[in-house]
Amino acid sequence: MTLTIKTTTELNNGIHIPLLGLGTWQIAGGQQTEEAVSSAIEYGYIHFDTAMIYGNESSVGKAIKTDPVPRSELFVTTKVWNTDHGYDQTLRAFDESLNQLGLDYIDLYLIHWPVENVRRDTWRSLEALLEDGRVKTIGVSNYMVKHLEELLSFSQIIPAVNQIELHPYNYGLRQDVIEFCRTRDIQIEAYTPLTRGQRFDDPKLQKVAQKYSKTPAQILIRWALQHDIIVIPKSARPERIRENAEVFDFSIGQKDMDFIDSFNEDLVICWDPADVP
Ligand code: NAP
Repeated sequence: MTLTIKTTTELNNGIHIPLLGLGTWQIAGGQQTEEAVSSAIEYGYIHFDTAMIYGNESSVGKAIKTDPVPRSELFVTTKVWNTDHGYDQTLRAFDESLNQLGLDYIDLYLIHWPVENVRRDTWRSLEALLEDGRVKTIGVSNYMVKHLEELLSFSQIIPAVNQIELHPYNYGLRQDVIEFCRTRDIQIEAYTPLTRGQRFDDPKLQKVAQKYSKTPAQILIRWALQHDIIVIPKSARPERIRENAEVFDFSIGQKDMDFIDSFNEDLVICWDPADVP
């Protein structure tokens, strides 16, 4: 199948999610976020990842609402933060996120982190929100196998997505959760897919990039796409937002995919969710 910037994958509830999205963590709320989201839409992005804790939901929403591209053609994810867990608190946090975004609905609402002791009540509130119709899909983030097993033991609805830190440098480390999700039809979404630039100088990655006349960032994004993994690289700079979308005019051959698959070094750049009981 030929991939394009509009290519979606079907989630376990029939909703389609675009494979490439713009990450917005550490893009300052206000003009910087508005410009980043507007340029992304101009370059063809239709998927945006924010969170209440990022402090830029209102700017993401403003850029979306002022753009001529219809809301129905865009996909917006936000997340409930750790301090808002629990049934009532999560419902309130959702209302606040929707209000900040200024939208009628959210496409995907995620539990940002698997906070201990309140996971069950928080998930129940996401199920209630789904029933209510103001969110189209619900999922989790930073859930390892132990958190997913617990969730599946009480949930009425299986999460559609698990957003985790994923790049070739922790691909081996995360095989267990990837396999667990694949066999239960939970879509993996890769955050920090560019290693925040920490491995751009890796000679192995440079070698592949040179072979395809692409940048290390583009190779990392394309690698995720070819694994059918949703990928949400962040950039606040229009030229890089564009560069990160120029990944649909080439494909990585199978031998090179296998080579990149072997880059694992158990690298965890964000907090390690395996440490959350
Ligand atoms: P990332 O996407 O791996 O890397 C972002 C960094 O790379 C920024 O410093 C950016 O700088 C730079 N960059 C981007 N494109 C580049 C390019 N083409 N060439 C050189 N440098 C480039 O890291 P991330 O922000 O941690 O992850 C992406 C998104 O995932 C986040 O924005 C957020 O939406 C989500 N996320 C979720 C969680 C979670 O717990 N669920 C955790 C972390 C992240 P400039 O902005 O200056 O271009």
